[in-house]
Amino acid sequence: MNNVRKLGVGLMVGWVAMVGARAEPDLNLSEAKEMARAYHDSGAYLEEIEQVAGWAIGWIEARAERRTADERLVVVMDVDETVLSNYPHMDEQDFGYVPAAWVKWVERSAAPAIEPMQRVFETARHHDVAVIFLTGRAEPEEVTGTIKNLQQVGMGDYERIIFKGPTDTAPTAAERKRLRRIQLEQEGWTIIASLGDQGSDLAGGHAERIFKLPNPFYKVP
Ligand SMILES: [Mg+2]
Repeated sequence: MNNVRKLGVGLMVGWVAMVGARAEPDLNLSEAKEMARAYHDSGAYLEEIEQVAGWAIGWIEARAERRTADERLVVVMDVDETVLSNYPHMDEQDFGYVPAAWVKWVERSAAPAIEPMQRVFETARHHDVAVIFLTGRAEPEEVTGTIKNLQQVGMGDYERIIFKGPTDTAPTAAERKRLRRIQLEQEGWTIIASLGDQGSDLAGGHAERIFKLPNPFYKVP
């Protein structure tokens, strides 16, 4: 394990300790930011994403091959830190979240694709498996920029994108996403995989397999 990888793992362990035990953190905020940058810039972040993407590609290919004639297969994917990287924005904001700056970033449609996940997307489409994006990005202000951004990076060939709407009343992201997956099943979709960078993207079942990507930058409950 190289030093940078150790830093990345150490950071995540530190965060778990902070959240889990509510113990005094053993690093301060500026050190944590430095470690997050090192984890990203060293390539360790991308390497871990590549590993998960490889597992997802293998599963999608195998599952598509044994589909039955009446099955409508779909892969459900989160957007932020799953297929689009907001790292340039996070870095620029020094990892602070400022709602107005965030909306401007979304409107710029400038988030780069997370390339291993783009390959997951392409694998699904190549095997005639639909892709439905299920995102925490909100209607109406984040719709146009998001759709344009996905098209620009070559992921416009999706079945549907489900935003967080004004009438969504679920108390957490996890519950909202779980209810949406149930709806998709009721429409006749077989969700063969769910992919996201947050536990809340994946909790609550209603997918044959789940694939969790790393995200040491922020947490959505
Ligand atoms: Mg996300």
